[in-house]
Amino acid sequence: MNEADHSSRRTFLQTTAGGLLVSTSLAAPDAMRAVESQPTISSNSIIGDVLRTQGRLSTDGRQFFEEQRAIPIAGKSQVLVCGGGPAGIGAALAAARAGATVQLIDVAGCLGGVWTVGLLTKILDTEGKSGIMSELLKVFSSRGSTIAKNTKGTVYDPEIAKLVLEELCVEAGVRIQLHTRLVGAVTDKSNRVVAVVTESKSGRQAWLAERFIDCSGDGDLAAHAGCRFDVGVGADCNCQPMSMIALLTGVDPSAIQPFIRESGSEAKRRLLKLMETNGVKPSYRAPTLRHLHSGIYSIMTNHEYGVSAFDAGAITEATIRARKEIHDIVDGLRRLGGPWKELAVVATAEQIGVREGRRIKGRYEITAKDVATGLRHEQAVCQAKFPIDVHALDGKGNKEISKEFKKGGLKPYDIPYPSLVAADVDGLLMAGRCISGDFVAHSSYRVTGNAVPMGEAAGLAAAVSLKKGRLPHELSWNEIKQK
Ligand SMILES: Cc1cc2nc3c(=O)[nH]c(=O)nc-3n(C[C@H](O)[C@H](O)[C@H](O)COP(=O)(O)OP(=O)(O)OC[C@H]3O[C@@H](n4cnc5c(N)ncnc54)[C@H](O)[C@@H]3O)c2cc1C
Repeated sequence: MNEADHSSRRTFLQTTAGGLLVSTSLAAPDAMRAVESQPTISSNSIIGDVLRTQGRLSTDGRQFFEEQRAIPIAGKSQVLVCGGGPAGIGAALAAARAGATVQLIDVAGCLGGVWTVGLLTKILDTEGKSGIMSELLKVFSSRGSTIAKNTKGTVYDPEIAKLVLEELCVEAGVRIQLHTRLVGAVTDKSNRVVAVVTESKSGRQAWLAERFIDCSGDGDLAAHAGCRFDVGVGADCNCQPMSMIALLTGVDPSAIQPFIRESGSEAKRRLLKLMETNGVKPSYRAPTLRHLHSGIYSIMTNHEYGVSAFDAGAITEATIRARKEIHDIVDGLRRLGGPWKELAVVATAEQIGVREGRRIKGRYEITAKDVATGLRHEQAVCQAKFPIDVHALDGKGNKEISKEFKKGGLKPYDIPYPSLVAADVDGLLMAGRCISGDFVAHSSYRVTGNAVPMGEAAGLAAAVSLKKGRLPHELSWNEIKQK
């Protein structure tokens, strides 16, 4: 995305009488395209005539202006965290435990993000991670199945995760509001975020806070606040595919052991061969089957290419396709008979897995070069080791991983605190997959073993910056760590 794109995005912001900026559109590149291709309202039509008379129809008939309205202020906290996924959990717990009042908002009906709503079941890049990541692994292990114990909590049960995350947040005093989507952000004259706007069954509401942390995965809060961002790679902003994960049952683990991921790296290839020799052709050619506990498995074997994280219509179509594909694959495997004859779907993820959304511009951008050279940074909040993992960007050849992006190589590298601090507004931190980095770096640091420590660092930074009466960008990680 170039500067021209950024500035055109800013035309979607409106100035109110009080000098506050309220965002009115997500204004991602795809949202802009959607505006160009959307239906128009003819000013000769009855509805067009009514809207035009009221001054609410744009001259080109492509947009109408919402009426200004007063909305209730639903809450006031010191720290507001948008998104209760792995990053948001780390952020909310760290900020609350450091003494801040914390409001956590999530659009889903449970906490955990991709861990729970997305049925992920595997936490990657956990080695050497202490703090909240290590605490969560211990609880997922101690409260989980034998497999969770044997894998030290890295293969976990999504239902246990839902329960544990709620318990921990409640215990820490985090105020949780589920079923609530952030749809706007408000900045003041000094370009500091001062409030967000949400939509839910309670209607449209405003939430005030002194510090904000964007853990929405897609960078929704930061985009609404007017921050610059990048999406995907190249001029077309190509993104990695989305994937739907599902839970399965009805097979004896001892009879299908060679196909279970934890039995070794050959398991994926064996499962693909079994599928293909029997006429089942999955869109993701590295099918990953994990055994979770007594008779329950998870499977990831779907790729949805070219779907924008900012186009609800396209995501809906991908969701419907992916769910059908999972059922077709399970039907195909069941027809093999033998150990597979009772195979059944327990649940498909409510949310299709989104690998990429916005990468918000921060005060440091992690690059492919940092990854290749093993960046050492004096403000490191954690270290990432997960390989560069770019799934095929399109179905051509249906490769497991696009090898071209791996050329530079990877050495364990630091995640610097400034990459969590928004560059374009004050009082806003990011954590998880929306932090500041390039396409290649993101393909490595995005996994959840890094999202949690990033969140923990952002949460602590928010709380400490309040205590010190300075903004997050005015503090170094050393000052924050020392509290
Ligand atoms: C198919 C797939 C497989 C993967 N495999 C692995 C793996 O095996 N292991 C691993 O560690 N990582 C894996 N990853 C990567 C990893 O899951 C993500 O990068 C990770 O989820 C990042 O965590 P997060 O907290 O930033 O985002 P998310 O988990 O996406 O959480 C974001 C949260 O914000 C909420 N939210 C979003 N927008 C709004 C809004 N506007 N208002 C309110 N709430 C909002 C969402 O409901 C969600 O709870 C995989 C990803 C995918 C898609």
